[in-house]
Amino acid sequence: MILANYHTHTKFCDGLEMPKTYVREAIRLNMKTLGFSAHAPLPFHCPCTLPIEKYEEYKNVISQLKNEFSDSIEILCGLEIDYIPDLWKELEGSIVPSSLDYFVGSIHFIDTYPDGTRWTIDGSNERFRKGWEEIFAKDSSAVITKLFKYTREMISVMKPSIIGHFDKIKVQNSKKCIIDENDGLYRAEVLETLQAIEASDCVVEVNTRGVYRRNEAELYPSFWILELMAKMNIPVVINSDAHRASELVNHFEYAADKLRKAGFKSRVYLTGGEWFSVKL
Ligand SMILES: [Zn+2]
Ligand SMILES: [Zn+2]
Repeated sequence: MILANYHTHTKFCDGLEMPKTYVREAIRLNMKTLGFSAHAPLPFHCPCTLPIEKYEEYKNVISQLKNEFSDSIEILCGLEIDYIPDLWKELEGSIVPSSLDYFVGSIHFIDTYPDGTRWTIDGSNERFRKGWEEIFAKDSSAVITKLFKYTREMISVMKPSIIGHFDKIKVQNSKKCIIDENDGLYRAEVLETLQAIEASDCVVEVNTRGVYRRNEAELYPSFWILELMAKMNIPVVINSDAHRASELVNHFEYAADKLRKAGFKSRVYLTGGEWFSVKL
């Protein structure tokens, strides 16, 4: 299996180790390519993101590693950038995504409390429920509609290289009553979003983090979504969303097996600035 991972967080954001530790482990694993994707700086307080004043240092450190280990592995400098409609222009200006090798586009924030505090769909279930009750008056349909509308907007406006954890919101299913993947509206929103992806140049990541961190059977995206994607020939890349070096290629074989079962014949990987396809 050609091993490559493009979703990697280090101490520069909410990961646990310094980039070099990941590079050493990636070489030990005989990985072809390792892409770093710090959570991009945001113009409001968020403990998980790379602070803007560290952005240059981040790029320099990755660039040094690129040179230092160029005989053993391909290192890429990317970011995981949040798409937040009202902030995108400002963010784009401060980050300049074109200076990166690639970037993952993800959605973690879809609304704010009256005092302006951003609400994340990605945190604990308690925090999720608070926003669901106070901002959305428990209207799950409104949450779903907004999330996937923003995802489609992200595809057309931000044009990420990779779409990150497409249906991460399902993590909130631990207390079953909120997000129902079998709901007709949910399925319709997913389908409409896949059609937007089909018409774009974006690659969708198959993210293994929920499987190895939370013991979930389902990847992001869920199996039924992967089946639809296979029929639509949407390209997929396997990513671990690693926050420590030991997680770099966790459950990649599991993901490859699921992809084959969903009808995929190949997956893609990025090398030398281009996407290549490899048989599963
Ligand atoms: Zn993270
Ligand atoms: Zn994320």
